Amino acid sequence: MQRVDLHCHSSVSDGLLAPAALVRRAAANGVQVLALTDHDDTAGLAEAREAAAEAGVRLVDGVEISITWEGTTLHVVGLGIRSTQPELAQGLAAIRAGRWGRAQRIASALARLGIDGAQEGAARQACGASIIGRTHFARFLMEQGITPDIQSAFDRYLTPGKPAYVEHRWAELADAVGWIRAAGGVAVLAHPGRYRVSSTARKRLFDQYVAVGGEAVEVVSGAHGRNQQRDFARVARHYGLLASVASDFHGPGESAHDVGSMPGLPEGLVPVWERFV
Ligand code: AMP
Ligand code: MN
Ligand code: MN
Ligand code: MN
Repeated sequence: MQRVDLHCHSSVSDGLLAPAALVRRAAANGVQVLALTDHDDTAGLAEAREAAAEAGVRLVDGVEISITWEGTTLHVVGLGIRSTQPELAQGLAAIRAGRWGRAQRIASALARLGIDGAQEGAARQACGASIIGRTHFARFLMEQGITPDIQSAFDRYLTPGKPAYVEHRWAELADAVGWIRAAGGVAVLAHPGRYRVSSTARKRLFDQYVAVGGEAVEVVSGAHGRNQQRDFARVARHYGLLASVASDFHGPGESAHDVGSMPGLPEGLVPVWERFV
């Protein structure tokens, strides 16, 4: 069995390791096929590619795109993309631009709670990254001693219903899948078990996802428990979707699942990486 991990983050987005260090860690963990999938950006792929060639890892060019669907934030990973494809590049640039205004609104919400300097603090955490996101705010809150760890920063301030969560409009599902396909890639619905939607909404989501050209889904994910893995294996078989394996690793000490630490796919699924190896 090949050791595969098709979802992880570098310091280009909200990961802790630079792309080359991430690739070397994956190689040391025995990964043979790796996708770097930074949020809304492909700027780490060149460095990752060089490191992958040195380490003997097969690198799949990836990205994780932020989407708003029926008011819920979804993530779709694009794998095997040509990152210079203009529609994709422009779509991602627009999402990245939107993140700065959102960050200011998050900082204002924190200021109203008496937490000052969050914009500068999060920007400092994002130094070297080309996106700013909630993880950078969470690291700032921890650095300031306002929360003991990243998780409680999310739980107390940064998740829906909490006081520094701000609504934001990301890309449309059909647009994001379209960009991925235009760039020659395969769309993979990321960590479907994480979305807080009813079972009827979930069915609608998969119906629409397939209708707009989505071809794959993460079945094995760092975000999934055993039951969710079984549920989404069933969904993949039902819709004829290719299946992916995804740690969603962000960094040592921050992620429960190391890069390359996920088990293989359950029986009877077609691996999405057959498209790339
Ligand atoms: P953003 O795209 O800026 O909204 O940030 C999303 C990122 O925040 C995810 O990719 C995770 O890295 C992190 N994240 C989101 N929700 C949580 C949570 N409940 N606990 C820990 N990290 C989270
Ligand atoms: Mn993230
Ligand atoms: Mn995600
Ligand atoms: Mn991710």
